[in-house]
Amino acid sequence: MAEVSNHQVKRITAIVMVLVISLTLVVFPTGAAANEGTLRAGTAMIDITPDKPVKMSGYGARTALSEAVHDPLSARVVAFENNGERLVLVSSDLIGYYGGTAEHLRKVILSEFEIKPGELFLSAIHTHDAPTLSIDEEKGHPNNVEYTKQLEGKLVKVIGEAIKNTGPVRIGAGIGYSPVGMNRRELVFDGSGNSRIRLGCNPYGPTDKEVLVMKVAKPDGAVVASLFDYATHATCLGGKNLTISGDVLGLAEQFVEKILGEGVIAPAFAGASGNIDPWFRVLDGFNTEPGWIPEPVLLGTLLGEEVVHVYRDIENLSAGGEIKSAFVTLELPGKERGELKIKKDCPPTPFNIAVARVGDIAFAGLGGEVLTEIGMSIKAASPYKHTFVITHCNGAAGYLPPEHLYVEGGYEISTSPFAPKAADMVVKQAVKMLHEL
Ligand SMILES: [Zn+2]
Repeated sequence: MAEVSNHQVKRITAIVMVLVISLTLVVFPTGAAANEGTLRAGTAMIDITPDKPVKMSGYGARTALSEAVHDPLSARVVAFENNGERLVLVSSDLIGYYGGTAEHLRKVILSEFEIKPGELFLSAIHTHDAPTLSIDEEKGHPNNVEYTKQLEGKLVKVIGEAIKNTGPVRIGAGIGYSPVGMNRRELVFDGSGNSRIRLGCNPYGPTDKEVLVMKVAKPDGAVVASLFDYATHATCLGGKNLTISGDVLGLAEQFVEKILGEGVIAPAFAGASGNIDPWFRVLDGFNTEPGWIPEPVLLGTLLGEEVVHVYRDIENLSAGGEIKSAFVTLELPGKERGELKIKKDCPPTPFNIAVARVGDIAFAGLGGEVLTEIGMSIKAASPYKHTFVITHCNGAAGYLPPEHLYVEGGYEISTSPFAPKAADMVVKQAVKMLHEL
């Protein structure tokens, strides 16, 4: 080996440094990327099927307790972390966090894990074949109060597991379309020619067909989660059904997990679907006629297959990027539930909005039952290509209809606690927060 002088060593060192700097710029083309840290995520899932008969939620006239279980209910968690910032996405096979349970459970979870309000998306798929949550020992059925207490422990456990499991991941997203959801605001006329809107089938009304899928994989390619967002009520079954089920969205989750295999969770999120029901809606139960595929299974499979199609087309996974989140409670102009007239002295109704992004995939969590036009407006104005609009999230404020539907009336309008101007305020605020992330 030939000897080298001090001068030559300095020159070689300088050349090597220039090469290293050049290579770094090629690998991290933006200056900020090098400081972004490593995106990490962990997943966990827990069974939340009631082990006792419970009151079921979603239909006021249904007072009998549940009698059977068709398919298990679960809570699924994906917990992202980067540079100390977190995003904890919780999907649960429940109707929603009504009766003050969102506020109570969020408080417990935020303090247990020391996370910021915008870092928790506590959401439900709005299945109407699941227990009513109750923390009110006076009013709630004892079995439901007990169920809700157990749920609190299970949510803390499953979120803790997901946070503990975190490791480096890569992410990607894709979009497909599904005809499973149908607008349910049906125009009918009485004998005198007067029109009204009833809950039924309106195949001409707007629906959001988008199936948004996010793939989360380990650096070695092993997939850990396939999250999906679709705008439909999980109400294939109606008020006569006494069998526990995840309905269309829960059955889609279970189908995707069966196809993708062990170790992959497929959390579903209900998009803006206040006026969207499944194509087959509010049926009496699971049809057991020989050869008949029960409608919730048929539609859940149809949606699940599209999720898998989109999932398989997501090839380019990225290292993700930074996590940002924000949370606000808006005080929106209110109205009395059950009334169409807006009284001047009606107090405002609070509404929670959470926004977050993981790299360039965005999330908007809305604390109520948001009609589909509103979700479509947020997606259209979002600065991100992929925006998960997640409703029944961090709150259960009730129906939020767009202003133009107040003229027509109908169930979602009369039962809404919001005045007509409220929806525009939510869209503007959510879009503003997404831009500011
Ligand atoms: Zn609903």
